[in-house]
Amino acid sequence: MTNSNDMPLAAKPINRAAHRRTDEAWLEQAILREDALILLLKAGEPFVTAEGGLYWFGPEALRVSPGSPRLFLGEDKAGAPIFALDLPPKFDLAGSLIAGAGEFSDFRQAAAGMAAMDANCASTARSLFLWHQSHRYCAKCGGANGVVEAGWKAQCANCGAEHFPRTDPVAIMLAVKDDRALIGRQKFWPPGFMSCLAGFCEPGETIEQAAARELFEEAGILCDPSRAEYVACQPWPFPSSLMMGFILPADNEDITVDSKELESARWVTRAEMRDIIEGKHAELFCPPPTAIAHHIMKVWAFRSD
Ligand SMILES: [Zn+2]
Repeated sequence: MTNSNDMPLAAKPINRAAHRRTDEAWLEQAILREDALILLLKAGEPFVTAEGGLYWFGPEALRVSPGSPRLFLGEDKAGAPIFALDLPPKFDLAGSLIAGAGEFSDFRQAAAGMAAMDANCASTARSLFLWHQSHRYCAKCGGANGVVEAGWKAQCANCGAEHFPRTDPVAIMLAVKDDRALIGRQKFWPPGFMSCLAGFCEPGETIEQAAARELFEEAGILCDPSRAEYVACQPWPFPSSLMMGFILPADNEDITVDSKELESARWVTRAEMRDIIEGKHAELFCPPPTAIAHHIMKVWAFRSD
């Protein structure tokens, strides 16, 4: 069985040390410490080394783009403070202090090559920075929001309203019937790429009900939400989802695809699913191990029920 704590991008070695977020004096000192660990993002893309791993700077990172928004992520096992800086979209790498040291990389690609702590830190910072970028103004009065609590909250300068970062629950699931499971694809995916079906949880429903509703809406497959089997969950910074994985027994087999959501959907046998996961299938392939879809498919493919 898969445990959420084993999921890529999930928090593991980080102590978030939330009590530090309101301690301005401590934060000001901590980011200047010799052992401070600082990562850089630009428009959600982490700065990585030539080898592809996350580039950790020390306090010298503050000179790269002075005034960039900061986020305090927590402390590592040794107690070193961890920060992220959000560089402006127009940041000129070639003309900067870090020219030649590495590059800003597509998050999915970069995360696949990162150690667990690095992937979680970059993922968390990406979610929070993207949230701040799209919540510059107060939803209550339209005033300007300021970043407070070391990046973990926004507050309106006009009316004082507090705004907290979103986490959007998403159901991601496999419907299964006998020895077959349902997978589907969206039309803009590469040819042959197939995955679990997924969809956002709506107000007033449970995550299991969302899983069953999406399977019916997207593929015409009926499932009883009370029979949903929880597999694991994963934070997914595109921009702020919590992907909650399920396997649900299906009551019918006839697929009716909603072409607005999916290009196609099909049943595959357990043997086919194993080939897909292991990269041996003649025409189909699936998301890499950085995505929870891979693990949900794997859990079902390699057990017998
Ligand atoms: Zn306001």
